Amino acid sequence: MKKSSNPSCITGAMRSCFTLIELLVVIAIIAILAAMLMPALQMARAKAQAISCASNIGQFAKVIMQYASDHGDWVPPKKDGPRISTCAHSFWAGNLVKQETTPAGYFAPYVHAYTTRSISDFGLITSSGTYMKFACPAQTPLTQGTSKYTLGTNNETIKDMVGVFLPKLKYPSRNFLLMDSKSSYIDLSWKSTASEADNCPWPIHSDGCNIMMLDGHVEYRKMAAIPDIYNYNARNEKSFWEYGPSY
Ligand SMILES: [Zn+2]
Repeated sequence: MKKSSNPSCITGAMRSCFTLIELLVVIAIIAILAAMLMPALQMARAKAQAISCASNIGQFAKVIMQYASDHGDWVPPKKDGPRISTCAHSFWAGNLVKQETTPAGYFAPYVHAYTTRSISDFGLITSSGTYMKFACPAQTPLTQGTSKYTLGTNNETIKDMVGVFLPKLKYPSRNFLLMDSKSSYIDLSWKSTASEADNCPWPIHSDGCNIMMLDGHVEYRKMAAIPDIYNYNARNEKSFWEYGPSY
């Protein structure tokens, strides 16, 4: 047998170590395999985050629907009239679960069991122990103590101080209520704004968002599938944004 060029190798009946060339080939193969696997792993991770996000929103949807069931089928308004002057109940997704205010947020009784055990169980994070905000799992690292929201409400549907009477909705399964967003609300201006932070859907999950509809179900949509408020091409697209007897 040919003697190995590697002086550290022991020669004999069988070679006991790799040559440098063989080692480089093995490393190259491992690198190629890793490069092939990495995108797949990243896609799997993104998919898991999107599913986790949808699950969190689904829990919040259950709270909202439970509240409506207990209050004559009314989903509470974004602003709640007289309370607005005494406490910051103006931002729906975050502040309505606040328990520190008097009176407490609408949903506080429904999330109390979660918040006393572990806020993160409910997908909420605290900010200086004062605010609780819904955080998307795809937001890394989770931002605490800032003014950022990761869940925006439909400002066209719940922008007034009345709330939504669910039986009045003609297409509750098409009318969205909550969506991945960097703003606390999403409104008609989003298509004309330059920054995705300005009242826009947030394409955080593979260029798409998780969306809760007013029948309580959660679905994923690519940004291209979110109806353009300025360019309706079907009647049901208008019902995605608007609440009223005519839709
Ligand atoms: Zn999300």
